[in-house]
Amino acid sequence: MKIYPIEAGNFKLDGGAMFGVVPKTIWNKTNPADNNNLIDIAARCMLIEDGNRLILIDTGMGNKQSEKFFGYYSLWGDFTLDGSLARYGFHRDDVTDVFMTHLHFDHCGGSVNWNAAKTGYEVAFKNAKFWTNDNHWEWATKPNAREKASFLSENILPMQDSGQLNFIKRPEGDFGISEELGFGIFYVDGHTEKMMIPHIQYQDKTIVFCADLIPTAGHLPLPYVMGYDTRPLLTMPEKAKFLNAAAENNYYLWLEHDAHNEIITVENTEKGIRLKEVYKLSDIL
Ligand SMILES: [Zn+2]
Repeated sequence: MKIYPIEAGNFKLDGGAMFGVVPKTIWNKTNPADNNNLIDIAARCMLIEDGNRLILIDTGMGNKQSEKFFGYYSLWGDFTLDGSLARYGFHRDDVTDVFMTHLHFDHCGGSVNWNAAKTGYEVAFKNAKFWTNDNHWEWATKPNAREKASFLSENILPMQDSGQLNFIKRPEGDFGISEELGFGIFYVDGHTEKMMIPHIQYQDKTIVFCADLIPTAGHLPLPYVMGYDTRPLLTMPEKAKFLNAAAENNYYLWLEHDAHNEIITVENTEKGIRLKEVYKLSDIL
């Protein structure tokens, strides 16, 4: 098995929204804001090459929204999904499976493109199965008012129309090894309904794709919960359970949204679970 980072394109988000009730004087130390109060955000997707499978985890924002829409997100840097795939000798048509942690636009927008005539949409990975779960699909396709701006129908419905959409069979509890994908999945409900957090065994390490459970290294303290979370009081025990396991088992935490810290480990301290070490992906992969 080989793992490659697929940077789909950096953007920025409001620092206050990213840190909920935490005051700027505190979060600004780990995630410094620009003049518009925006902080750097990555879309660091993961590509797993395993036998004849090529599994992409999350797809970034994509490129089909309007200039006005992208204007809100201050895109920066040179990363593109196609450029990142090409860097390792891959093309999007090689991808056999697209796994989406959840269907917020910055995690699945790259799964759907305009068609050639720009009259409608088509899936952006023509040979891939698209994976979500039934609960999350229900939730995302009938969005509540709070998340409506994050669940864009043009990112979601074309996957179903293509006939390439698949639901992962969920375990009874909150963790199970997916028969379909071959890695472990931790299910959490605080950020959104049934977000999926992949746990990948890689050589002697467990690499965890943290998605929006731990978006950046600045989000380790339990109450540092994003304003975007739908059930913040649930995020805290989910984070506690996860971070305790991460410290105990020395998980390598792949930070999808942290533009400056690619992979971290954590440790138990008297203040709670805190940062242990920061790694470059090239140190681990
Ligand atoms: Zn999200």
